[in-house]
Amino acid sequence: MTHPWEQLLPRLDEMADLRHAATLMHWDQSTKMPPKGAHARARALSSIQAIMHDRLVDPEVGTLLGELEADDSIDTERAAHVRILRRDYDRATKVPRDLVREIAETEGLAYQAWIEAKPASDFSMLEPHLTKLVALKKEQADAIGYESERYDALLDDFEPGMKTAEVESLLTGLVLELKPIADAILANTGPRPDFLSRRFDEEKQISFCEWLIDRLGYDMRGGRLDRSPHPFTIHIGRGDVRQTIWTRPKMPLSPIYAAIHETGHALYDQGIPDHLVGLPAGNAPSFGMHESQSRLWENQVGRGRTFTEFMLPHLKERFPEVGMITPDEFYLGVNYPQRTLIRVEADELTYNLHIVLRFELELALMRDELEVSDLPDAWDAGMEKHLGLRPESQTEGVLQDMHWSVGSIGYFPTYTLGTLYAAAFFAAAEAELGPFDDGLRAGETGRLLAWLRDKIHRHAYIYEAKDLGARVTGGDLTVAPFLDYLKKKYREIYSVSF
Ligand code: ZN
Repeated sequence: MTHPWEQLLPRLDEMADLRHAATLMHWDQSTKMPPKGAHARARALSSIQAIMHDRLVDPEVGTLLGELEADDSIDTERAAHVRILRRDYDRATKVPRDLVREIAETEGLAYQAWIEAKPASDFSMLEPHLTKLVALKKEQADAIGYESERYDALLDDFEPGMKTAEVESLLTGLVLELKPIADAILANTGPRPDFLSRRFDEEKQISFCEWLIDRLGYDMRGGRLDRSPHPFTIHIGRGDVRQTIWTRPKMPLSPIYAAIHETGHALYDQGIPDHLVGLPAGNAPSFGMHESQSRLWENQVGRGRTFTEFMLPHLKERFPEVGMITPDEFYLGVNYPQRTLIRVEADELTYNLHIVLRFELELALMRDELEVSDLPDAWDAGMEKHLGLRPESQTEGVLQDMHWSVGSIGYFPTYTLGTLYAAAFFAAAEAELGPFDDGLRAGETGRLLAWLRDKIHRHAYIYEAKDLGARVTGGDLTVAPFLDYLKKKYREIYSVSF
């Protein structure tokens, strides 16, 4: 009789091919598709997703999984595929088909409503859809089940294995220590460097980013760079990892740091071993782990003193608009902290305060402590509490992010987890290999990339995020490496003590 793995593999390959098609359609939708194609595309995608769901919940998959779980002789990789597929299978079979369809439809309507509500600064346009969606997400979480609380079941979609209590304790601890540091620094920043808002040619922004991502090791023969309304990276299939950026004529640093960020994601995906791609363990183990790579390249490398010294002459060569700024001024500009209402414009110092606000609100929704109708007021109060600012409009307040309108509850904390992992990993790399400063000053990042490939990328999802993190750093995830990194950086820039 054929081994159950040999029977499962063609099914997994077919699911991977369906996902390949859906992913390519998503990429096209966000980059090239004419607006009039939106309706037919949504329909085509939902058909493919329904087929993928049917393939996954086929009872034969459950039978084969049971046989493989009983086999003690399977190797580590196959055991990982089985473990992850079991989790996906259980989650998919526990949620009734009608509920899956109702959530998908409600998300579609809520997203459309959000698109119109945001520029109109009118939460009431989104409110009925979001109220329904939040109720459905509670139903979904209850169907999946959880040990201690409902939010766990949703968090598991993005950060498998991590519990709400752990996230809550990390984020609460972070805020406690971060706030006094942020207050001390923000009281000492001085005026905003004016090159940060000079007009830069958009075509040249793209060509500079093309040059930069190549320098960082992104393989263009296995990828491409396009423009989209929001930057993203997408892994379509073996040998095909694409990224997009935006151009911002009056925010010259924004496309550059978006490109470095997305390259961090893309280098991770390009480092997943070919034989794993498409199979259950052929991904990062969690969103937070993926975000660790983008944040590490963007912040620890890209906003580091020595890498900015490398970039500046190249920037001056392509953009005379930069003017006569010195390496000190450029470094200060790249790291200039500021309280802002908008998460995606926030700097390293204040970014995580935006995440804490969102985490508190979505947790309160899931704990039945907050109604959707009270979200706008709760948002403004939380913004004032964490950042000392009050939004003048809902566009800049509760409506700024799309996440909740597409049902992504449990996603936000992964940005902070990524930030914490990034600092811990960079510290571990320096502890093992020595400082990277001389290399980075010359634009050499190969040694760091090789280390990340060896410690993280090549393992894909063989280990759970927590275990992979512990293998790299030797311990549990804590806020200490990130706080140490921030304190050191800003002490040097602003001579502040805390
Ligand atoms: Zn990212």
